[in-house]
This record gives sequence, structure tokens and C-alpha cells, in this order.
Amino acid sequence: MIAVYPGSFDPITLGHLDIIERGCQLFERVIVAVARNPNKAPLFTVHQRVEHIRSCTQHLVNLELDTFDTLTVTYARKRNALVLLRGLRVLSDFEYELQMAHTNQSLSPQVETVFLATSNEYSFLSSSLVKEIAKFGGSVAHLVPKNIAIELEQCFSKNPPLVSTPTPMAPTMPMD
Ligand code: ADP
Repeated sequence: MIAVYPGSFDPITLGHLDIIERGCQLFERVIVAVARNPNKAPLFTVHQRVEHIRSCTQHLVNLELDTFDTLTVTYARKRNALVLLRGLRVLSDFEYELQMAHTNQSLSPQVETVFLATSNEYSFLSSSLVKEIAKFGGSVAHLVPKNIAIELEQCFSKNPPLVSTPTPMAPTMPMD
């Protein structure tokens, strides 16, 4: 059975990698599909994100990497996948993921969404959190594969966040 694991992976974290590795043990083939979503402004290009994933998944023989810019179920059908693989972390994920699963089921009843619960140590971990830490100079070496931690560090050392200077208090009365 083929499973598609769709997502932004901006960038891939150890939490994503954990789901990919466990998915590869459950399914004959897993396709990690990086979304080209024009509504999101990613830090890394789709090409960079695919290369990041490739760099840390060399050991997985039944894994394939791809990109897509259609509805997820349309992509899954095109690839003959019967399963959409998703990860669940905390309760807040559940509401969104359930909504997506129901929507996808209404669009394509033959495609099932299968959720894997995150491993305990990654339950707090998200790509946004990783970017936020790296942006302010914190270490993300324990959250993402080593080469990606280095890339994030370089990325933000070139473009440090703009620190806003306190604005002078606005006068309450017009001054003339
Ligand atoms: P999307 O934009 O589709 O949410 P993400 O890259 O943020 O893309 O997430 C892709 C999938 O990976 C989602 O199902 C998300 O819940 C899951 N995921 C993200 N981080 C983790 C984690 N730390 N542990 C388990 N699953 C995760």
C-alpha cells in the first residue's frame, strides 16, 4: 500500500523524520510530498526543502520525494496512494487535522487519512518554532538534522531579525 505524507516541511524537523521513518515501516512505499502553496511564504524554496529531506532519509529504501501543487487528494489519486499520512502532536493539531481529513474524505472517499501520534520527545516541535528559535540565535541542533541546523544558522546570521527601536512617545496634543 502506498502512503503520501504531504506537508510544508519548511524545514523538516526530527518530528517529521520520526513520522517518515515509522511510516516507512508500515507501508510498502511512502511518498513525502512537499506542497507548493502560493498562500504561504516559506523560508526555504521547494527545491531546498526537498533536498533537506533527501539529505536525512538516505537510509529509507521505500521512500520517494516529490512536490505537488494540486489538491492533496488529487495528488494522492494520481500516485495511486490510498493513504494520506499525517502526524498528530497536541490537541490543537486535532481540530485542524480532523477538518482536513473530513474534507479530503468528502472529496475522495477511497483515500483514507492515517494519523501517527508523535513520539513523546517531539510533541512540542514544529517548523515554525524551529525558525523562531534560529531567528533569535538559539540552537536548533537538537530539533532538526545537523546540516539543516547549520543552514538555518547561516540563513539568520546573514539576515538577522530587525530589532525594533522604541518609538518616541507620541505627543498627546498637536504641537505647532
Ligand atoms: P502543513 O503545512 O501541511 O501542516 P507541516 O510540515 O507543518 O505541513 O506538517 C506536516 C505534517 O507533519 C502534519 O500532519 C503535522 O501535524 C505533522 N507534524 C509536524 N511536526 C510534527 C511533530 N513534531 N511530530 C509529529 N508530527 C508532526
